[in-house]
Amino acid sequence: MTDTDALRQDVAIANRILERMGLSHAFGHASARIPGTNTFLMPTRRSPGLAEAGELLVIDTEGRLVSGEGEPNSEFWIHARMYAAREDVGGVVHAHPPACVCLTQIGEPHRVVHNQGAIFSAGVPEYARVGLIRTRELGDLLAKVVGGGKAAMMRGHGLTTAFSDVRTATVAACYLEESAALQLRMLSAAGGDATRLRVFSAEEALPLADQIAGSVARRAWDYFAAVAAANPLGSGQK
Ligand SMILES: [Zn+2]
Repeated sequence: MTDTDALRQDVAIANRILERMGLSHAFGHASARIPGTNTFLMPTRRSPGLAEAGELLVIDTEGRLVSGEGEPNSEFWIHARMYAAREDVGGVVHAHPPACVCLTQIGEPHRVVHNQGAIFSAGVPEYARVGLIRTRELGDLLAKVVGGGKAAMMRGHGLTTAFSDVRTATVAACYLEESAALQLRMLSAAGGDATRLRVFSAEEALPLADQIAGSVARRAWDYFAAVAAANPLGSGQK
């Protein structure tokens, strides 16, 4: 298998993970930069749960279709402009997971309330404008909100993560949704009083940076990939 074939496999698996883990249903997408280029691999316009390695499109950061058959997802600008803005980014995930949507709609910022959530201890900025990212300008605006960070919450919409590779971006998206879901449960148990949450301090969060690196990240990817392989389409829906 060539490096490109392996990357295509990863992108297809990443997309299926988003659907099987309940982060997306008909919508959402993961992509990977083709190393050393301004192009990236992304699925055609259908559910990420249906992504196939052999059917991915190659798109460039100007939004041009370079190769492949079919129409790209309409929010491809999220990916194109994130790669344009950040040379260090090799993987981008965009999904519509319910807990992230809920948090934005009650005006609660993401808070670190469990170990895996600690990878976002620098904060997750909010892209407050509602609606889809279907233009270059909105893609640039979202990339600006993410800045040099790892992710953005998108009001009434979902999340976007940006990491060095597609595996990490996918694992991080799963962590962020898990974190948001826990935060909602805690808020509910605390009668909606956010001051009762025992949020991790920056000092407490620091040693937990390893949750998205090395063997921990590999273990998470292996698990999510196995869930995606073993379960039928639609099984992860909440
Ligand atoms: Zn979207």
